[in-house]
Amino acid sequence: MSWECPHQSGEALLCSRRGQPCRPLETGCVLCGRVTSVGDAVRERVPLPVCRPPERGEKAAAAAPMTADMPPAPPNPAWQLTVCRGAESCAAGLVALAETAAALEDAVRRSAWADHLRRTYPEGHRPHHRLRIAVAACPNACPQPQICDIGLIAGSRPRVRAVACTACGSCLDACREGALALSPGLALDPARCVGCAACARVCAADALVAPQPTFRLLLGGQLGRHPAWAEELPLRLAPHQLGPALERVIALLVRHARPGERVGATVRRLGLAAFTDALCGT
Ligand code: SF4
Ligand code: SF4
Ligand code: SF4
Repeated sequence: MSWECPHQSGEALLCSRRGQPCRPLETGCVLCGRVTSVGDAVRERVPLPVCRPPERGEKAAAAAPMTADMPPAPPNPAWQLTVCRGAESCAAGLVALAETAAALEDAVRRSAWADHLRRTYPEGHRPHHRLRIAVAACPNACPQPQICDIGLIAGSRPRVRAVACTACGSCLDACREGALALSPGLALDPARCVGCAACARVCAADALVAPQPTFRLLLGGQLGRHPAWAEELPLRLAPHQLGPALERVIALLVRHARPGERVGATVRRLGLAAFTDALCGT
């Protein structure tokens, strides 16, 4: 039975999302020795170029050295910022995120993170060394800030104006958390409220008024061999505070990170209090 290795067929293996060549060589193909990083291929939604193991009697070729005709590896960014659709295009969004995303990009670029990676991994860092930041414009948290190194989640807990309430009941239907009650008067249970502001959106009497959204900050989430949820700091950040806060968090991480240590491990070793102090300027 013949078997043609996809590398030797001369086909260019392009990322289906970005149209860029795959990053080469982390796991060797048993037939030709050339392969794309499996992790990258999955992330980039590339058809895995790993050959199947040879059939009985089929001889595996010696690993071939990389040749000049191989496309250069695309740059491996030092960080990855994931931002949800935000109020620009999602009905649940409490805040537009375009400016926030730009401010966060600037903050990471100004920070010492890229230099830190270059110093720590002079041969080049691996994709899992990237700093992963996720921002959600509402507590639904679509980009999963709970499993990123740094997560930001917008929220707005409505103020209650019981005197304006007409007891129509619309807010009770809108609240999925069961955080509202109308008897004996309009009341909001802060322990249940997640700050989605859905109730304020349906209240025509302005008895529930959502203030400007603020952001919760979570640190240290990760997947992999030792998965962990990000933990939340006991503070709220206004949109204009996000860039400076990110710079301070990164400065602390860079100062204390040990070679090979995941961000989550650094966060847990230092403790959330160290980050809270850094952000509060104490
Ligand atoms: S996190 Fe909220 S605002 Fe962002 S896309 Fe998801 S539901 Fe929409
Ligand atoms: S929607 Fe507004 S007016 Fe109606 S019950 Fe709720 S708070 Fe009162
Ligand atoms: S903000 Fe959301 S969770 Fe809180 S009371 Fe209103 S609907 Fe319920």
